[in-house]
Amino acid sequence: NTPVLELDDVSVVYESLSGPVQAVSDVSLKVYPNTVVGLIGESGSGKSTLANAIMRLLRNNARLTKGTIRVMGQDIYALGKKELRTFRWNKMSMVFQSAMTALNPVMTIEKQLVDTFRSHRKGMSYAEAKARSIDLLKLVRIDEKHLASFPHELSGGMRQRVVIAIAIALEPSLVIMDEPTTALDVVVQRSILNQIQELQREHGFAILFISHDFSLVAELASRIAIMYAGRIVENTDAHALDRDVPHHPYTEGLMRAIPKLTLEDVQIQGIAGHPPDLLRLPSGCAYHPRCPHATDKCRSVRPSLYELPHARVECHLYGEEKGGDDDTWMRRQ
Ligand code: ATP
Ligand code: SF4
Ligand code: MG
Repeated sequence: NTPVLELDDVSVVYESLSGPVQAVSDVSLKVYPNTVVGLIGESGSGKSTLANAIMRLLRNNARLTKGTIRVMGQDIYALGKKELRTFRWNKMSMVFQSAMTALNPVMTIEKQLVDTFRSHRKGMSYAEAKARSIDLLKLVRIDEKHLASFPHELSGGMRQRVVIAIAIALEPSLVIMDEPTTALDVVVQRSILNQIQELQREHGFAILFISHDFSLVAELASRIAIMYAGRIVENTDAHALDRDVPHHPYTEGLMRAIPKLTLEDVQIQGIAGHPPDLLRLPSGCAYHPRCPHATDKCRSVRPSLYELPHARVECHLYGEEKGGDDDTWMRRQ
């Protein structure tokens, strides 16, 4: 089973007037066919930067400083310009975070869909591209009468469906979705999520689903990568989040921040403190200023990645006694 997406030790730095911003650090991650991997983290943790790096659409002041990114075995940064153009949208596509503005306001939906096909499928006739566009709209449950509509004539949820339709139009193997439902109300969010799930099951593409909403991601993904200050601090089996097993202290903090509705009370506990300044990352474990378990070692030594039965975590709590005591992680139960 070859991964559709394979990130190996990826780092991205922005050059800024105040100095280099270490937005993504040493990220390794695999996404397999027909699966959904969730990527979550607070605002500014580097999620969109990583997504743009995968699409090779980094901003001019950003640079991939380390690592390799493979999509279907192909090193994205080894592609020539022309090959890259074919690769993008055909093999990998993305629903951008600003998707609500991704559609051209002065073009009908028909024109935008037809263009998607015709710019990537040389020789496809207008009639065939239109027929495919109608199929595509059906797939995302939009009536074909809306081919004639302009984006502003559609609701937010419908516009987002069109954007998703364009992303899957050329049947890519990997679809990156960067906060695809954040701008929508909860009911519409739910219906779009269900649809994404359905499309994914039917068509078998892999999804990297980016969000800051833990409960949303937990519903959709089989694996979840948790990003903090540019690092994936935990990569966990999504089911392990329902079980009483140990996680990275940051993950535990995020989980506590999910509203829990019980008959007696409503508990929401945010994580104290602020995400770090990426210009001046804290020494050792970047989470130490906010971590309730931080020790002197955490303040000076960056933790390695440790394997738990259900997850991989970058935290000293799980690695102090490597070798010998193989149930180190049990001590926190
Ligand atoms: P959000 O949840 O708000 O979308 P994110 O996790 O997607 O956040 P990114 O947009 O990847 O975060 O940003 C990561 C870091 O990189 C941020 O600290 C941001 O300040 C910095 N950054 C982003 N774009 C630029 C840029 N063009 N120049 C300099 N720094 C940037
Ligand atoms: Fe907390 Fe230390 Fe683990 Fe970092 S390494 S998350 S500071 S316990
Ligand atoms: Mg983002």
